[in-house]
Amino acid sequence: MGLERIDKILTHLGVGTRKEVKKLCRLGNITVDGEMVRDSSEKVDPENVEIAVDGQVLEYKKYIYVMLHKPAGVVSATEDRQHTTVIDLLPEGFQVFEPFPVGRLDKDTEGLMILTNDGQFSHRVLSPKKQINKMYYVEVNRNIKDADFKRIEEGIALEDGYVTMPAVVSTIESLAPDKKANIPETFHSAYANQRFMLTIQEGKYHQVKRMVEAAGSEVVYLKRISVGNLVLDSQLAPGDCRELTEDEMEGIL
Ligand code: URA
Repeated sequence: MGLERIDKILTHLGVGTRKEVKKLCRLGNITVDGEMVRDSSEKVDPENVEIAVDGQVLEYKKYIYVMLHKPAGVVSATEDRQHTTVIDLLPEGFQVFEPFPVGRLDKDTEGLMILTNDGQFSHRVLSPKKQINKMYYVEVNRNIKDADFKRIEEGIALEDGYVTMPAVVSTIESLAPDKKANIPETFHSAYANQRFMLTIQEGKYHQVKRMVEAAGSEVVYLKRISVGNLVLDSQLAPGDCRELTEDEMEGIL
């Protein structure tokens, strides 16, 4: 891990702002391995020392893993001059970890987004080799016929000639309760005429929209419900987030 400034470590752990941590140090409230540290710029190896605030030993955490219910209208970027980003939606205590979105959702797409500062984890989730399923709830404006659903499932040629990998189309009725809890009672979009679930393993640009277009229809509402075994927590309102639980972390891949 290596050496890190005490003020940086403690702000990451949510003890306070850098300024507040500096003050706590000056006042003698911070100890490292039982020794008072007055200078918050001092560097220590957080994985190999015991840091305490007012005698309370802190549990060191390097990485953060967040589940966000992405609302429409925000972009899946860390910075944007014009639009609200998914990072802007996170509380300050999460932002200090400098997380980034694992993959992207379009500005108008809602649903499950994972954010982390763990590059290896992100890489594993996104790696095509892992073949992680991503399940979407899709509303379209023109009914897609069975033959076209079959083409979507078997691999459909997009407008640029790329043929998609096999996908699965399923009904809302067939969903397990935790997934179903994330599906609107009726059409979300006033322009919708048909709705279904689509599970894909790839994550090409506008992939679901382009697959639907290739089948002669148009997506009017899109919501991601799950990534691997991780299902969007239906208790999270759009814009809300929480850390992943240990069980969720272990089960996702
Ligand atoms: N496919 C799309 O077309 N858009 C998304 O946001 C995600 C998948």
